[in-house]
Amino acid sequence: MVIYNSLTDQKEEFKPINEKKVSMYVCGPTVYNYVHIGNMRPVITFDMVYKYFKYLGYEVTYASNFTDVNYKITKAAIDNNITEREVADKYIKAYLEDLARYNCANIDYRPRVIDNLDNIFDFISKLIEKDYAYVVDGDVYFRVKKIKDYGILSNQNILELESGARVEVDDKKEDALDFALWRKSDEGEVFKSPWGYGIPGWHTECVVMIDGIFNGKIDIHGGGIDLKFPHHENEIAQCMALHNHHLANYWMHNGHINVDGEKMSKSLNNFILAKDFIKEYSANVIKISIFKSHYRFPLNFTSELLEDSINIDNKISNALKGANIYRNLNGLEFDFNIKDDIFEKYMNDDFNTPNVISYLLELVKKLNGLVRENNKDLIKVASSILVISDVLGLTYNIDKWNDEDILLYREWLEARENKDFEKADLLRSKLSNKNLL
Ligand SMILES: [Zn+2]
Repeated sequence: MVIYNSLTDQKEEFKPINEKKVSMYVCGPTVYNYVHIGNMRPVITFDMVYKYFKYLGYEVTYASNFTDVNYKITKAAIDNNITEREVADKYIKAYLEDLARYNCANIDYRPRVIDNLDNIFDFISKLIEKDYAYVVDGDVYFRVKKIKDYGILSNQNILELESGARVEVDDKKEDALDFALWRKSDEGEVFKSPWGYGIPGWHTECVVMIDGIFNGKIDIHGGGIDLKFPHHENEIAQCMALHNHHLANYWMHNGHINVDGEKMSKSLNNFILAKDFIKEYSANVIKISIFKSHYRFPLNFTSELLEDSINIDNKISNALKGANIYRNLNGLEFDFNIKDDIFEKYMNDDFNTPNVISYLLELVKKLNGLVRENNKDLIKVASSILVISDVLGLTYNIDKWNDEDILLYREWLEARENKDFEKADLLRSKLSNKNLL
């Protein structure tokens, strides 16, 4: 399979560090407010990546952090007159609820900064020892120019970066490009470090987490395109400084979401929170909307896209309903281990989900035909749809019926055949109430 690697800007054959294993890290949320649907794109995308590797038989270890120490959290705490821990706990809980509601909870490690402060101190101390970092008046900065490939991920050279950095001249730093690993602070919740009181810089936590969980190197590092620079560039620089190797072999970046062609913002009133979206629509609908575009490209969220996704979702759901009736009446089972070559061909090409959605619709058409013919081959086609839906994180009702349900259905068929319409109507409403039709 090939993955588009943002580090080299080309599709590359995926070769894991350890055979049949995948290690994956995705930058998690800063927990100071509720997440919006734009934040859900990486969550949904990398959940699909996780599930596809599982489908292929890989053992996947997936970690994603919580940035629970940050000046934004301190600001939210002051604004609401509560503690930073209360802010962080509240939004971590809300986030985990969102992940569960969207069926994206397959994360093995969810490290928090608050639990990793000693590791962060160790990490920064090592960078200071190796002369890649320096202390100035309680702050610690990273010496960017010591990294010869700095800018490799975002395709910028030091000269370009320097001209962009001059505007924010900071007297304390040796060089405008240097970034903070530790910042002196006495506002709100601060921590005692070897350099005095303050809070850690955001760029360090992810590298420290990857060090702790994966021994400093992973197969895939993911995140939104907006994190490429400076966050991911700075993660690479710190790993290079400490270990003299790249942090991740493959960097995957998802595009952002616009709403009606505009960037989401509170002032434009197009800010859709994940928890609100799901009240009106479903997880299936947002996932289909997201997968109809390739993950690397920007996605324009419109009412037309939503309608189209609802339509696709209904088509899949109805076709499976028909297949499920046949399966229950004939005492058959779906095959959840079925492999589908066409699906794999699309997914192995850098997770080409737009093609997968089109292919799903072809399968749905085929399935409807087979259901009409009462053809037992429908079990195979329905199984493929179910397995593919599962990788995309789409859920459909394929409950197994009990004897009473089967009997009820047979009675309905009989009443229809005997043209006993009154009885048939009664049985029909019973079946619909049980959601069997
Ligand atoms: Zn990160």
